[in-house]
Amino acid sequence: ARFYSHLPLSVPIKLPNGIVYEQPTGLFINNEFVPSRQSKTFEVISPSTEEEITHVYEAREDDVDIAVEAAKKAFNSTWKTADPAERGKVLYKLANLIEKNAETLAGIESLDNGKSLFCARGDVALSANYIRSCAGWADKIYGRLIETGSSHFSYSRREPLGVCGQIIPWNFPLLMWSWKIGPALATGNTIVLKPAEATPLSALYVSQLVKEAGIPAGVVNILPGYGKIVGERISRHPNIKKIAFTGSTATGRHIMKAAAESNLKKVTLELGGKSPNIVFADADIEKAVSNIIMGIFYNSGEVCCAGSRVYVQDTVYDKVVQAFKESSEKLKVGNPFDESTFQGAQTSQVQLEKILSYVDIGKKEGAKLVTGGERIGEKGFFIKPTIFADVKEDMRIVKEEIFGPIVTVSKFSTVDELIEMANDSEYGLAAGIHTIDINKAIDVSNRLTAGTVWINTYNDFHQNVPFGGFNQSGIGREMGAEALDNYTQVKAVRIKIDPKQV
Ligand code: NAD
Repeated sequence: ARFYSHLPLSVPIKLPNGIVYEQPTGLFINNEFVPSRQSKTFEVISPSTEEEITHVYEAREDDVDIAVEAAKKAFNSTWKTADPAERGKVLYKLANLIEKNAETLAGIESLDNGKSLFCARGDVALSANYIRSCAGWADKIYGRLIETGSSHFSYSRREPLGVCGQIIPWNFPLLMWSWKIGPALATGNTIVLKPAEATPLSALYVSQLVKEAGIPAGVVNILPGYGKIVGERISRHPNIKKIAFTGSTATGRHIMKAAAESNLKKVTLELGGKSPNIVFADADIEKAVSNIIMGIFYNSGEVCCAGSRVYVQDTVYDKVVQAFKESSEKLKVGNPFDESTFQGAQTSQVQLEKILSYVDIGKKEGAKLVTGGERIGEKGFFIKPTIFADVKEDMRIVKEEIFGPIVTVSKFSTVDELIEMANDSEYGLAAGIHTIDINKAIDVSNRLTAGTVWINTYNDFHQNVPFGGFNQSGIGREMGAEALDNYTQVKAVRIKIDPKQV
């Protein structure tokens, strides 16, 4: 961080795809961009060029306190009591504005995160769809009429929680923003959200759209800053009633502790994974290979539910490994703004180094490097799609989340053996099954320890389908009807009927 009091509150940026736009750089509090109280700023770099894009203001504890106050005021004065249809209306407008700004937003994501435009466009579309889905939910949040006999009238309401703290990672900056703000706003909560320090730009850009859509001041507050400062203050803030986090399991554990030690705020966590992606001998091999590629190399492998452990049935093992190698070597890795690029840059130097260290670990552990395993070029954080085969299940490359374009391939013969290997993980986020046998697909999916099972597809999201983890992959679900449960609390009301009054 550096002291930079003269940073303007917006700077013009020319994206490599030719779009010129104004990038807000301030904290977004009460529907205004403002400098941080201490006027500190931090640098945002482009992972594909390693060059500075801009600085943005860095929030600190005192800024969190101001944002929470604004969010609390907005909760009590307008948002909680608004006609839910009004909340829906502005969320519909927000979804439309995201679509209207789709190319700019995709460009911002590619610039800031390093992901290919191909991936970034997918994120923008999913984000708009999800905000629109939440708009539809806003006026369909019902309590129940509860039958308790004629002496009482009993019903329940689903009320919002209040100010929600939300902390998001750098792998899907815009999409995670949408998964967090959508259900919170639909159900009448207000928000203080911290984007990841590596990727603050899209959350600031869409803040303008939040205001333009007509969301009242103080309902959404965005504070770029560091986890150990802003994240910590959010996790411990006495007036924040709930915290939603996506990121590493270690940080998730820490946040849960902070929430418990402060005011027992409610916690939902979407954490890491080491998800198995399974190819049975009867699968359509060509399609299965294309799905295992999407499973691990999509978004440069920086996906919590990446299919990072591939299991192939012994009779087709050699054939699948060969086809997987050939297809992986054809993937275009490089400039995220090149329309033909599949895989862009890793998001940070730290990640690049972490991933390359696992290449060394895999080699030392005696796994067979089938392809990749190297950085591409000297500038920009690019890594070749990397496949390790003939691995043993106790190797670190099979056990630990790498969060990059590295996959291990293991061999199995029977379903029982497969289930044991696939479930032998501290995680349980997702799994993939490739087979044409419907009985096998359902049986195996029932036996897998995973919050999501994809059959003959992978990394295939839909706004109506809940997503979240078993085991240490998380607590709670995002998207679908389930996401709304995390943002409401049930109030039971019981009225005694006095016959004398009738
Ligand atoms: P992280 O979990 O530390 O960061 C995610 C978010 O948490 C960021 O916004 C960060 O500022 C914030 N944060 C960090 N420390 C905090 C604290 N003490 N209190 C509150 N918030 C805090 O992840 P990272 O260090 O950027 O990446 C490390 C590893 O985490 C990756 O290599 C990957 O394995 C995993 N990861 C997983 C996901 C996911 O989607 N599940 C996303 C990002 C990273």
